[in-house]
Amino acid sequence: MKYLNEYRNLEATKKILDEIHKITTKPWHIMEICGGQTHSLVKNGILELLPEKVSMIHGPGCPVCVTPLNLIDKAIELLEQGVIVCSFGDMIRVPGSKKSLLEAKAIGGDLRILYSPLEAVTIAKENPTKEVVFFAVGFETTAPANALSVLHAEKLGLKNYSILASHVLVPPAMEAILADELCRIDAFLGAGHVCAIMGIQQYYPLVKKYKTPIVVTGFEPLDLVQGIYMAVKQLEEGRFELENQYSRIVKPFGNTAAIAVINKVFEVGTREWRGIGEIPNSGYVIKQAYRSYDAEAKFNISYIKVLENAKCIAGQILRGIKKPNQCDQFGKACKPSNPLGAPMVSSEGACAAYYHFSTL
Ligand code: SF4
Repeated sequence: MKYLNEYRNLEATKKILDEIHKITTKPWHIMEICGGQTHSLVKNGILELLPEKVSMIHGPGCPVCVTPLNLIDKAIELLEQGVIVCSFGDMIRVPGSKKSLLEAKAIGGDLRILYSPLEAVTIAKENPTKEVVFFAVGFETTAPANALSVLHAEKLGLKNYSILASHVLVPPAMEAILADELCRIDAFLGAGHVCAIMGIQQYYPLVKKYKTPIVVTGFEPLDLVQGIYMAVKQLEEGRFELENQYSRIVKPFGNTAAIAVINKVFEVGTREWRGIGEIPNSGYVIKQAYRSYDAEAKFNISYIKVLENAKCIAGQILRGIKKPNQCDQFGKACKPSNPLGAPMVSSEGACAAYYHFSTL
């Protein structure tokens, strides 16, 4: 197939759904890691069309949802110190402990909403008397562009640019989920775009150690039903293998140029995941050689341990223990217009997906 709309073909999708119905004999729990996959599954009504025995569990792969509350507070504190803070649009409405970035902008903070961290470097160049910080949030997919912005600022000799980094990695999160005693996952759909950058090699040890199939999967309806079919087939046949449904994009060793840029600026370190807690070696931290571009090291910003809204069960949603419609606040006190937690704000959040599209 050559064109995107072919991956949205209804007849082809139905045929594979029929095959899933034919081969399913036992109950299976399959986690799709990525929030983009969750949205596509919910929006396209795929959850309702799967056999009752196949239950999709929604994973932690929404970068906005797992960015710790205290980091949002730090970005707001920088705004209040007069720093120009730049961010992708999906972070700005996420509630911090007292307010969101958007609310901080409304009372005078210089918040810029950008499509690329390289734009933030340009802003730093054009405002030499101001400090400029890019709120660098995301999984492995956004890390190359954020690392590149640091290298670009270095090349331009800019001293007034830095990043507030919150980069997390998919494989350690999968391991934390598998190692949890409450884990009920039989197989994973791997996040296709993350593997497009990083390749698939890191997933072999997980498959082997936990005897759990992983199928690297894309985002269109046909991709998703094919990924689910491949996972169910493995489970029904008693196999546990790493398979690549998204081979049109994902190559075994990923994008080596992007990986080289990441490795120049970042190294693996412990990261806190909102709703999950600290996971060792689960994210990128800025290397010592680039510490002058690390906003946390550069500015005097406080670390205050802030508590989540006690009524929000986002932690259980992100670990696949509960589904959004099992939260008491869902659609009542918590709506996209008044979110109590990040999964209701983000365009990739499971709660927002259920609110907008699900009939379950
Ligand atoms: S519905 Fe709202 S309160 Fe409940 S888990 Fe989702 S974000 Fe939190």
